[in-house]
Order: sequence, then structure tokens, then C-alpha cells
Amino acid sequence: MAIIRFLGTGSGYPHPDRGSSSVLVEGTDGALLIDAGEGCARRLAEEVLWKQEIRTILLTHAHADHSAGLPMLLNGMKADRRTSPLELIAPMGLLEGWESFLPAIRLGEDRLTFPLELRELKPGRYNTSSGHKLDAWTNDHLPADREGRGGSYSLAVEIESEKWVFSGDLGSLEPLEGKLDRAAGLVVETRHVDPNQAVQLAKKAGIGTILLTHISADQDTPPIDDAIWAWDNLVVYTRDSGKSI
Ligand SMILES: [Zn+2]
Ligand SMILES: [Zn+2]
Repeated sequence: MAIIRFLGTGSGYPHPDRGSSSVLVEGTDGALLIDAGEGCARRLAEEVLWKQEIRTILLTHAHADHSAGLPMLLNGMKADRRTSPLELIAPMGLLEGWESFLPAIRLGEDRLTFPLELRELKPGRYNTSSGHKLDAWTNDHLPADREGRGGSYSLAVEIESEKWVFSGDLGSLEPLEGKLDRAAGLVVETRHVDPNQAVQLAKKAGIGTILLTHISADQDTPPIDDAIWAWDNLVVYTRDSGKSI
């Protein structure tokens, strides 16, 4: 059984009840954190999960609502005197940005108590240090630069033999087409695409669990059949646990 926990379900503008994008996925060798929006460290502390071993952090793209919580996570790990390595996967450009900025806030490699292993996010398959197999592909939210660096990514993650798709930020639903086959769950952002159309696409692919996230303070969240609007600290169980949400 694995748990998927939403730490932040808001988007790029401060929301009184929602942190920015962040989802924690349990794994065999530690947890995988998909995006580290502001407030993710606080949510972990709130749920007494702070001590849970995050082994891999994957940032889907450069926007601040997906990455600005990283420094406080690292700061907390340093204060705990963590020693085990932490894998940080992100598009090049963002990765280089953090590499030069972290020393300025006293979180460079000479200050951290643990190795920070930087790994470029590019289209393709990965075995993460957290024990997950995942497939990453670019979508149309944020263009890559001329060298093909940067961009925004969607992911298919194998979680306890179930396939879960996490959309990342989108420009349209097109990048998800053909990627949803045999998926047990879809976590889809709704700031930049129509949630009803996203749900239709997921239902056409036979997906059983559809979670809508990345919600702005000014966004309506009317009930949608067969889908759930995610909220911070929502916990979702993989199928073999006999529980669901
Ligand atoms: Zn966003
Ligand atoms: Zn974005």
C-alpha cells in the first residue's frame, strides 16, 4: 500500500487555505516529492510527517508556485542534521539557478549536512532514488529554450504497480492524450485547462480516480461527476490497500 498526500493544492497567487503545488508520494526507498511550492515544509510539520524521509524531490518546471518551498525544506533537513543523500530532479536552467542561489542563502554544499544530488529532468524514463519508475514528457505550458532546456513536464509514476499520471502545469490537454492508458489515477491541474474536459479525457481512458488540483483563490470548484477537487492534506491510497480516499 502506498499513500499519495497533497501538501499544496493552490496555484500562483496566495490562497488563504491552500499552499502552492506539492504532492508527496510514498515509495519503497523513501518518499518522492513532486513539486515544492511554498508551504510544503509547513504542511509536513503540521501532519507530523516532517521526519518522513524524502529521498527525491522532482520539480516539474521553474515557476515559483512549484519550486519556492525548496529552500525551507532544505533548511529543515539541515537543522535536523540529515546525512542521507537527497536527489533533486529539475529541468536544467532551474537546476543551475538553484545551484547558484542556494549558497547565497547559506544552503550551499559546504553548509548542508547531506549530499544534494542534482539530476537534469529531460523527456524519458527514470528510476528515482525513492524507488519509483517514472516517465517524463514535456507539455505546452512553458517553452524550452533554444538548447531544449527548461520547459514544463508531466509525469507517469509507477506507484505499487499502479500507474498514476501527474499533469504538471499545462497549456492544453493535448500532451496528456495517449499517455493515460491503463492509468489508475490522474492528478490534473485546473488553472490552465478546463477541468470538465480533463475529466472527460480521463474517463475516456477508463481512469478510476481523478483528482483536480492547482486551484486559484478566484476559481469556482463546482462538483464534477467522478472527480474530486483536491485539498491540502488530502490522502489518497493506492488500490491494493482496500481504501481509496
Ligand atoms: Zn503553477
Ligand atoms: Zn507554471
